[in-house]
Amino acid sequence: MKLLTAVVPCYNEQDNVSDFYDEFIKNEQFLNSKETDFELLFIDDGSKDDTVIKVKELAEKDKRVHLVSFSRNFGKEAAILAGLRKSKGDYVVIMDADLQDPPSLLPEMFKTLEEGYDSVATRRVSRKGEPLIRSFFARMFYRIMHKISKTDIVDGARDYRLMTRQVADAILSMPEYCRFTKGIFGWVGFETKWIEFENVERRKGETKWSFWKLFAYSLEGITSFSTFPLAFAAFAGVFFCIVAFLAIIFVIVRALIFGDKTSGWPSMVCIILLVSGIQLFCLGIVGQYLAKTYLEVKQRPIYLIKEEI
Ligand code: UDP
Ligand code: MG
Repeated sequence: MKLLTAVVPCYNEQDNVSDFYDEFIKNEQFLNSKETDFELLFIDDGSKDDTVIKVKELAEKDKRVHLVSFSRNFGKEAAILAGLRKSKGDYVVIMDADLQDPPSLLPEMFKTLEEGYDSVATRRVSRKGEPLIRSFFARMFYRIMHKISKTDIVDGARDYRLMTRQVADAILSMPEYCRFTKGIFGWVGFETKWIEFENVERRKGETKWSFWKLFAYSLEGITSFSTFPLAFAAFAGVFFCIVAFLAIIFVIVRALIFGDKTSGWPSMVCIILLVSGIQLFCLGIVGQYLAKTYLEVKQRPIYLIKEEI
């Protein structure tokens, strides 16, 4: 008998937990036919509602349901890491609790994995039901990322992914503090098959990702998986040196031919503002990487567990 672990990060999902269970359990027969058992690992990411109580109720009914509860909200990335660490399965699948990662896709994913792939990932081909401005920035992010990072980060990719133990262990071998899971999946490689599906809207409750949270997350992605911004600072420096050098020659030649008229103060102010703005911007880029290094060096635990069932 093989074992499949489903890792389900939950933050304030009291209304979705039992719906999720009901939907997931529909795959039981299919899994049995593949001689596979399953364990459901709910990772409570410091929920302030009754998520823990709901999961405990399920755990009493069904011994295959387990709970890991954090001491506070550490974020979805931390929850995924905890789930992977606790997972015992020969296969691991990561799924959202809000049913935006449809459990009905699981049989198809499972069959694909059996064809010899190491992991089966999903991406949504539409973003229906999402604010337009958010879709626009999301698309921009993936386009920029594609240009500046060697790691393959796919547009519309969800964290919904079925993988073999080997891939899960590969992900666990990356101990970094700043965890951008979409990048980590791409970085570890392995044979991955992509399955596409239409966006499903969340069952109940609200998304935990505000626009600014997503924006900060995208910066995290860039600084975690690309050092291009650092190189940009250097390029900008070189570029402005060249411009300044040409300007010096121009000013000297003009002074020699036409004499030195003390004019051009407004343009001078503009140039000083522009250049100092760019300097501060580049300093900020360096600061971002320094901050990341600082967080990594401190080696704090990525999450703290309060309770486990
Ligand atoms: N989640 C979490 N910790 C957080 C935020 C979200 O564990 O700090 C979980 C959440 O419960 C859900 C999944 O991550 O199962 C995706 O979150 P959400 O649906 O809010 O994001 P969206 O689908 O809108 O991108
Ligand atoms: Mg969701």
